[in-house]
Amino acid sequence: MNQVLKIAVQKSGRLNEKSMGLLKECGIKINNGGKLMSTASNFPLEVFYLRDDDIPQYVAEGVADIGIVGENEFLEKDEQVEVINRPGFSKCRLSLAVRREEEYNGLEWFEGKKIATSYPVILRKFLEEKGINATIEEISGSVEIAPGIGLAEGIFDIVSTGSTLLANGLKEVEVVLRSEALLIANPNLNTEQKALLDKLLFRIEAAKSAKQNKYILLNAPNDKLDAIVSLLPGMRSPTVLPLADEGWSSVHSVIKEDDFWEVIDQLKEKGAEGILVCPIEKMIV
Ligand code: ATP
Ligand code: MG
Repeated sequence: MNQVLKIAVQKSGRLNEKSMGLLKECGIKINNGGKLMSTASNFPLEVFYLRDDDIPQYVAEGVADIGIVGENEFLEKDEQVEVINRPGFSKCRLSLAVRREEEYNGLEWFEGKKIATSYPVILRKFLEEKGINATIEEISGSVEIAPGIGLAEGIFDIVSTGSTLLANGLKEVEVVLRSEALLIANPNLNTEQKALLDKLLFRIEAAKSAKQNKYILLNAPNDKLDAIVSLLPGMRSPTVLPLADEGWSSVHSVIKEDDFWEVIDQLKEKGAEGILVCPIEKMIV
């Protein structure tokens, strides 16, 4: 039988769309099969749809070879899996929060208090490291209502914008962990499975680089070319083509999304005109 790579993704929820989007960006077409599993038509891949809580265990036990899961679940479940890649989505933080009216004066505030959370393992480790004695009240959801109903004095939960905390009269007081989606793998993949994973990783990296970079085209007066080219390192070096209009050139290059606005300002200062910035679909470096 030909080898197939089995990937576990979240069935529905905050990770599902981005996980499926990642596979799509890798050029993988998933047949709309069953609710539990589907197969790709153009890559030897089977997709298992699971609750995110179960993904680390399924990967550790080899039911799935790889999986996409939040770092929070990865750390909480503490299973024997390897982190292979950070695809760059589902960024959030795990924080401690207390009622807004509390006078919070540092971690000692939690000494002797009760904290509600769905992440007891991560929280226990953190409190131990900091030498704080607090009671952990494990609940599986709606953690943010715990202080309001008198279940706990504080909570430890996922925060992204903080609007849920605000709506429940809470304030974030300590960021314990920053989390993002992880591609995890079973540590005992065979040679063929590893080769398939490498193929997938190559595509993930190409999609990631593309997102982090932009293609830029601009017109430059020839006497300013050196200064403009030095601002645009490109992949090897920028492409410079003469314009029909004498004394002008067209410069093509790739710039990092992060440097983008700063570089644009400098290019304009140096006399660049007609600047076009385009998204890149795939980038093989
Ligand atoms: P499941 O039904 O699969 O158990 P869930 O309710 O436990 O789902 P979701 O709320 O769908 O989980 O979140 C899945 C993961 O997405 C979280 O474990 C976390 O890594 C990430 N995440 C959660 N909330 C946010 C957010 N607001 N912004 C970005 N990422 C988030
Ligand atoms: Mg879950």
